[in-house]
Amino acid sequence: MNVEFGPLDLTLRSPFRIARGTQHVAHNVQIEVAYDGLVGLGEAAPSAFYGERRETVLSALPSLAEALGDDPTFLEDATTGFDRAFPHGNAAAKAALDMALYDLLGKRLGMPVYRLLGLNPAATPRTSFTIALDTPAEMARKARDAGEYPLLKIKLGTAYDLEIVRAIRDATSATLRVDANAAWTPKEAIRTITALADYDIELVEQPVAAGDLEGLRLVREHAPLPVFADESCVTLEDIPRIAGCVDGINIKLMKCGGLHTALKMIHTARAHHLQVMLGCMIESSLAITAAAHLSPLVDYADLDGALLVADDPFRGVTVEHGKLVLPDAPGLGVHRRAT
Ligand code: MG
Repeated sequence: MNVEFGPLDLTLRSPFRIARGTQHVAHNVQIEVAYDGLVGLGEAAPSAFYGERRETVLSALPSLAEALGDDPTFLEDATTGFDRAFPHGNAAAKAALDMALYDLLGKRLGMPVYRLLGLNPAATPRTSFTIALDTPAEMARKARDAGEYPLLKIKLGTAYDLEIVRAIRDATSATLRVDANAAWTPKEAIRTITALADYDIELVEQPVAAGDLEGLRLVREHAPLPVFADESCVTLEDIPRIAGCVDGINIKLMKCGGLHTALKMIHTARAHHLQVMLGCMIESSLAITAAAHLSPLVDYADLDGALLVADDPFRGVTVEHGKLVLPDAPGLGVHRRAT
């Protein structure tokens, strides 16, 4: 087995501003795992919020690769090995290897990943398309321009959140979700969400600080829209303690360490009567496609990372009238775009 990796810079079509900062370029990492004549592809999209940078991914990958046994298609052993090498964190680095192993296994068996998981590709949900923070007028313009997507996710967490939603609601009849990225206090959240309920909003993501589970519970009890946790729910062991505080959770490969753990999270969330959204960071079609293979299992998808990127080097899942369309080639079904 041979593992090779290197930097993958993705330039955003327009600056991606959320409540805690602005991103122009995603400094990701791509990886190739060669084994028995086949090559599995993977990608890490490290997030500083979760303690990772490109440098930490590059320095973690050799130890993670070493933790793999002789047969990289033993996915359960691989995940155990990754978590033994790094019991906490390094989730994006783990996710890159994990998705490369799923790609390898699918290619080895000659079937797409969704099929080896027993999932129906017709059951994929629609994905939202994100409108990043800007002036209300500019966000309304972007919402109008995004007419091909029937579902929009509106970033909030400003002093003028209601103006934003009012301007966007006037500009489009799309289904709207909002994401405050932990910017509100519980009191502000209840007040804002109560006002937002007049604008036909589907759900609210991460209204309050990541560590404030009681705040989430309070908001859920007093605000009239469904509340989803993103920053508050990172990996498997977060689920039992967040159950009862929210209506659903946003699972991301780059938070939890890959498809193998994401699958366990989906089933654990179901056992706790939570709804499930699959989300992403700024990622190419490689990592987005990996997540999309799990999407027939979830209620909501926010897998728009590659749509926000100007120089996506890969081709995989596509979006038709908002719906995720999975590739049917073996493995992840991702190919490098011809240049
Ligand atoms: Mg979010």
